[in-house]
Amino acid sequence: MADYDYDLFVIGAGSGGVRAARLTALGGKRVAIAEEFKVGGTCVVRGCVPKKFMVMASEVSHALEIAEGYGWTIPDATFDWPTFIHAKDVEIGRLSGIYAANLGKAGVDLVHGRAVLKDAHTVEIIGKGRTITAEKILIATGGRPWVPADMPGIEHAITSEEAFHLPELPKRILIAGGGYIAVEFAGIFAGLGVETTLIYRGPNILRGFDDDVRAHLAGEIEKRGIKVILGCQHTAIEKTETGLVNRLENGMEIETDIIMFATGRVPYVKDLGLETAGVELTEAGAIKVDEFSKTTADNIWAIGDVTDRMNLTPVAIREAVAFHETVYRDNPMAFDYEAVATAVFSQPPVGTVGLTESEARHSCPGEVDVYVTRFRPMKYAFTGSDERVLMKLVVDATSQKVVGVHIVGPEAPEMIQLAAIAVKAGLTKAQWDAACAVHPTMAEELVTLKEKQTPANVSAG
Ligand code: FAD
Repeated sequence: MADYDYDLFVIGAGSGGVRAARLTALGGKRVAIAEEFKVGGTCVVRGCVPKKFMVMASEVSHALEIAEGYGWTIPDATFDWPTFIHAKDVEIGRLSGIYAANLGKAGVDLVHGRAVLKDAHTVEIIGKGRTITAEKILIATGGRPWVPADMPGIEHAITSEEAFHLPELPKRILIAGGGYIAVEFAGIFAGLGVETTLIYRGPNILRGFDDDVRAHLAGEIEKRGIKVILGCQHTAIEKTETGLVNRLENGMEIETDIIMFATGRVPYVKDLGLETAGVELTEAGAIKVDEFSKTTADNIWAIGDVTDRMNLTPVAIREAVAFHETVYRDNPMAFDYEAVATAVFSQPPVGTVGLTESEARHSCPGEVDVYVTRFRPMKYAFTGSDERVLMKLVVDATSQKVVGVHIVGPEAPEMIQLAAIAVKAGLTKAQWDAACAVHPTMAEELVTLKEKQTPANVSAG
């Protein structure tokens, strides 16, 4: 066997790369990992974690409104953006440091810089005059925001990456997109008092989610003050003396201070030298892998967002574990993408696991039973808020298995993690109902839903 510098070289120290590198080094292999920005990757530095801090900062305004209903008077409540951004950045720096320290403790060599492939066993660290060889290579370079580069004025728009570091809180923001990042940031800014408009070209937000969830959430975020414009494309952005003017294809012009494009993400494969190593891409531009995350090159694997399978942090981590088991522990393991729970940290938030109603109607052999409830949460009893919770169970009528759970409302992300255990385990509706309710909670509805949705009661909510 050729003498390589390392047994494994990982490109990208994000969710997937860090886990794979640590496990492999702890297993006694010589491992190095390259990171061109900050250790921790998108999730820790410019994704899940800072986003959740921003959601939590924003939700305080809602808590203050509720507090009034409960008899509290909180005079002069004000929000200071720079104070919050500083606190968030200190915490992100701390977390990134912990990730780097944990790599060191596991015996992984951290290489700061951009790594590109020179051949199937060699990477170059750009600008450092250094090449490193490895027996095996793992690509975990993640994704990047996509914007319509040919749209006039697009250079005036920001993406989620800059939204985490705005020097000041704008008075007005316009967010383009209808996916979870667009909806989450719309909620963040609206909660912080920013006049927020969400514009999406499709017929409703959150494409791919259950239709009841999409309709319910669109209504709820409008109640929270977000102006939602659907079925409309942007044609140009123009900078004026008073702000940015966003032109839409229907002739509308909207003036705002910041325009944020959250119009999707693409695998980060640019100039990575994939062709020199024999690593092929899919038609959509992701790294082509088999079920064990192996690329078209014999000694190269790829995991996480760069493979565009299911772009979530816990999935990238599970793919890393499966890679390690397969390649270094003689235990071929393919991650199972079925019934992965996910949350949208909108306000109110969404939790979802399993099949949407329409997916179930396509894939279940027989009928599908649907149980839906909409109600005002107890928390808002004194507040005058007409915000409503949606809970929906999708059941395969033949097997009686609960194949989908969809929740919109406070704590939905926390609830769905537990519901995911039952869906993954394939429990039946009767087994769900056998669990005694916890009272008074919202979640008790999940084990007490009795009435199936029928065409006659479908609009009762
Ligand atoms: P990443 O975490 O993106 O890591 C890739 C790393 O590789 C980066 O650090 C990058 O700098 C580095 N890199 C790239 N190329 C090179 C190179 N050539 N040389 C050296 N280093 C390189 N997921 C959830 O599960 N829950 C959420 O709530 C959630 N919220 C999100 C919010 C936002 C705004 C965004 C953008 C994403 C969010 N995600 C969320 C998705 C999640 O962040 C990703 O799925 C996850 O980070 C993917 O991990 P990864 O290892 O594939 O890549």
